[in-house]
Amino acid sequence: MATTPQSIEQASFQNSFVDELRGEASMDKRPRQVPGYHYSRVEPTAVQAPRLLAWSEELADFLGLERPADQGPAVEVLAGNRLAPTMKPFAARYGGHQFGNWAGQLGDGRAISLGELTATNGTTWEIQLKGAGPTPYSRRADGRAVLRSSLREFLCSEAMHYLGVPTTRALSLVATGDEVIRDMFYNGNARPEPGAIVARVAPTFVRFGNFQIFLATGEMDNLRALADYVIRRHYPELGEPSPEVYVRWFEEICRRTAIMIAHWQSVGFVHGVMNTDNMSILGLTIDYGPYGWLEPYDPDWTPNTTDFGGRRYAFGQQPRVALWNLMQLGQAISPLVNDVKELNPALDVYINTLGNTRHEMMLRKLGLTSLNREEDEALIEALEQTLAESEVDMTLFFRHLSHTVPEVLKAPENGGAAWQELLAAASYSTAPAEEEALVQWLQRYFLRLQQEQASPEAIQQLMLQANPKYVLRNYLAQQAIEAAEAGDLSVLNRLMEVLKKPFDEQPEHDELAAKRPDWAREKPGCATLSCSS
Ligand code: AMP
Ligand code: MG
Repeated sequence: MATTPQSIEQASFQNSFVDELRGEASMDKRPRQVPGYHYSRVEPTAVQAPRLLAWSEELADFLGLERPADQGPAVEVLAGNRLAPTMKPFAARYGGHQFGNWAGQLGDGRAISLGELTATNGTTWEIQLKGAGPTPYSRRADGRAVLRSSLREFLCSEAMHYLGVPTTRALSLVATGDEVIRDMFYNGNARPEPGAIVARVAPTFVRFGNFQIFLATGEMDNLRALADYVIRRHYPELGEPSPEVYVRWFEEICRRTAIMIAHWQSVGFVHGVMNTDNMSILGLTIDYGPYGWLEPYDPDWTPNTTDFGGRRYAFGQQPRVALWNLMQLGQAISPLVNDVKELNPALDVYINTLGNTRHEMMLRKLGLTSLNREEDEALIEALEQTLAESEVDMTLFFRHLSHTVPEVLKAPENGGAAWQELLAAASYSTAPAEEEALVQWLQRYFLRLQQEQASPEAIQQLMLQANPKYVLRNYLAQQAIEAAEAGDLSVLNRLMEVLKKPFDEQPEHDELAAKRPDWAREKPGCATLSCSS
């Protein structure tokens, strides 16, 4: 294990995925079906003029990597122009259900994994370049990624980490110097855009779809080998793989997925494309595409224009969709267990873990400790309903509530005015009377708050740690993109720093915690995003 930070081109990589699973060795990049294999060996395709745009200092320290100069050998590695001698790059084969329909073989069409690094705490982390050029899984696409979507993935995955949400990480954002042609609005107006590559980091990028493809093609040996690889490396506490261990493993995946979804619902994150190929086997948020953050609290909201018809992946649907996806995974691994029925209790684990975790998280957001579960559930449900009928910004509502609660507890006679002020600060409605139902809910909540033993200050502390002030509002990401496309990285840099401490006041950055401005209401990139990336 390295004690002094190294440059990535000098770091020593392990290659467990390649060494332990079945791969196609030809290095052929032509698109094709790859039956019989877990992955294909393939090298990144070089880009014109790689330049470092952003670097995750803390993640790099953890991985024992030193910050590279803007150009040079390390950036060449992060752009796929150069390999460290110990790397054995590969693209993984997987399938998936897209919008509920089985889509067959998908696979890493533009992501190429370089190998694994050992972090300062001894754990191993896979480094993957997204946008590194064609692979056998690119189908008709180019294997590349544009700056706007890469910047969004880089910023958001790190922001989610600092919010405490299970997620893949991002080490670097590199401009390629090449142009990529994209039809952003799918309206026949394709245009060149700057290309970029994100180096993503996770213990593994294995998805539900990596298992599904083997059920679809009847490759039972490969199914078992992949399950055993994932269990031995990433779930070692479960013991040596066996039919009983596969059941417990599925249960653990269900539990972790529930915790991830509870986090999403708690901060107002909408993934946007919860296809089974975008579900991590470790319960991590993975594949940041047309995601978005709730501004007005609206369970029907999705940023993904492709999903405007069905709203399958809207905010309020995420808990149900994750369950559906887990059912598909259960089906895929069912040949490994004695009786498929043995997998059913795990789905209950998902439902119960999600229910309990969401309940606990919501109590914390409201500064409450558990008293009467049924009554508290009714209170929370009433809030969710009332918020959905209002035009109140989710993040602002809870953050302002954290400040208003101690005031009102200390001086209940000022309650009326304080609640009105809170709603004025958080609502997008121009007719404040529309939020009357919310005032009534706040009065009910106040009575419940008075049953708490803790001091107003202690309640506030609890709430401030559960209700972030700073989230990656859709329009903020767009501002960072527009600046970066014009060569100005200051917006990106500022957001990176502020989003590292989302629960801190950081008053000098108040404007990044403001209501969404009116101009951003319908603007593409702010309110609506396509899958074009
Ligand atoms: P997604 O659901 O957007 O994560 O991607 C679905 C599939 O499309 C995955 O197999 C991706 O690797 C592939 N894909 C998306 N964009 C590209 C691209 N520009 N080039 C090659 N493959 C791509
Ligand atoms: Mg994907």
